Amino acid sequence: MNADLCIRAGWIIPVEPHRAVLKDHAIIVDEGQIVALVPASTEIHAQTVVDLPHHVLLPGLVNAHTHAAMTLFRGLADDLPLAEWLAQHIWPAEGRFVDGAFVTDGTALAVLEMIRSGTTCFNDMYFFPGETAAVVDKAGLRATLGMVVIDVPTAWAADTQGYLRRGLAFCDAWRHHPRIRALFAPHAPYSVGDETLRAIRVHADELDMGLHMHIHETAGEIQQGLERYGMRPLARLDALGVVNSELIAVHMTALTDAEMALCAERGVSIAHCPESNLKIAAGISPVTSLIRQGVNVALGTDGAASNNDLDMFGEMRTAALLAKGTSGDATAVPAVTALEMATLNGARALGLADQIGSLVPGKAADIIAVDLSPAATQPVYDPLSQLVYAASRDQVTDVWVGGRPLMRHRQMLTLDEQSILAKAKTWRTKIRTA
Ligand SMILES: [Zn+2]
Repeated sequence: MNADLCIRAGWIIPVEPHRAVLKDHAIIVDEGQIVALVPASTEIHAQTVVDLPHHVLLPGLVNAHTHAAMTLFRGLADDLPLAEWLAQHIWPAEGRFVDGAFVTDGTALAVLEMIRSGTTCFNDMYFFPGETAAVVDKAGLRATLGMVVIDVPTAWAADTQGYLRRGLAFCDAWRHHPRIRALFAPHAPYSVGDETLRAIRVHADELDMGLHMHIHETAGEIQQGLERYGMRPLARLDALGVVNSELIAVHMTALTDAEMALCAERGVSIAHCPESNLKIAAGISPVTSLIRQGVNVALGTDGAASNNDLDMFGEMRTAALLAKGTSGDATAVPAVTALEMATLNGARALGLADQIGSLVPGKAADIIAVDLSPAATQPVYDPLSQLVYAASRDQVTDVWVGGRPLMRHRQMLTLDEQSILAKAKTWRTKIRTA
C-alpha cells in the first residue's frame, strides 16, 4: 500500500464504530484523507511514517461553541452573574477595545491554545469574522464562523442591516475555502428582535445555512422573554421558524419536557457548555434526558472570558461528572459518550459529519495523538477511560488537520508562538491601564 502518511500507535479510538478501541494499529493517510486503519504490522510504503507506541490516536476535538477572540479578556472579570458580567464588564470592554487587530491577536492566542489542547475545529461567534478566518487559514485548523447579529451597535456594525451586509460579504469572500464555513449567529433571544430574526431566516433559507445562537442560558432570560413577548424564548423562536435541524442551540438550561421533545422532533443540535454554565451559575442543561430522547448534544467551552480556558478535555470530564451528579445516576454520560460529544456530535452539529468527527476511511485526516505514558494516565486498562477521566490536554503531543501536521512533539509548526504571546501581553497592558 502506498500513501503520504502512516501513523502507527499503541491504540486508535476511531469513535466510529461506537466504543471501538484498536490496539497496535496504524492510520493510513493519502491526499489529506484517511484511507484505511490497519494492524500496525501491515506493510505500508508511506512518504512519512510516524511511530507513537505509547499514544492513543483519536479524531481532532470539535469545540461547538466559543468566542475565540475573547481570550484577550480571560480573567478580566470573574465570579459574577451573567447579566452583571456582560453589562458592566464585557460589553464596555468590547466597546473600547474590539476592532480588527483585537480579533486577529485574540483569535491567534485562542487558536494556539486550541491546537495545543487537541482541538482541530471550532464554531465561533464574534465580530470581524474575516479577521478570524485569516488566522484560521494560516494556522491550518478548521472553523465555522458566525455572521454575528445583535440589536446593539458595535465597532463591527451599527444596525441590523449593517450586520447582515457585513456578514454576507464575509460569507461571500470565504465561500470556497476548504476549511472555513460561514453560519448565521444571532446573539441571543434577548438581544435580537423579531424583525431581525425574520430577516436572518430569509437569508438562511436562501443560502441553506444554519443558525448558531445562545438560547435559554439562564432562568432570567426565560422570565424576561415571558414578560416581553408573552412566551418562552424557544417557543418564540419556533414561531419565527428557526427551530429546525439547522439550529445549534447553545446552553439550553431550564428546559421543560415539551421543549426537549420539540428539540428531538426537529433535530436541533445542542452545544452544551458545562464549565461556563457552572462558573456563571447560569443553570444546567438536562443532557441526560436530551440524549435519552435522541437529541444531538455537542460540547463547547464558550469563550475564555467565562470558562476560563478552551480545554475540551476539561469540558469532557466536567460534562460526564455533572451529568452523573445532577441525575443521581453514575451511568449517565459515560466516557464513550463524553468523547462522542466532543468529536462526532460536534461535527454533526456543524454539518460536517461527512468530513470529520471520526477516524473512518473517506473522512479528512484530522487526528490528534495523546501520550498515555505519564504517571497521570498509568496503568492503562481502558484508554477511553484515561482520556476522559485522567488525561490532561498537555498530553496532546501531535495534531494533524487534513493530513497536515500543525503540531509535532508539542512544537507548533504553523504559528509563531512567541509573537502571539508577546501580543497578548501588550493587549493586557492596554486593557488593564485603560
Ligand atoms: Zn457564548
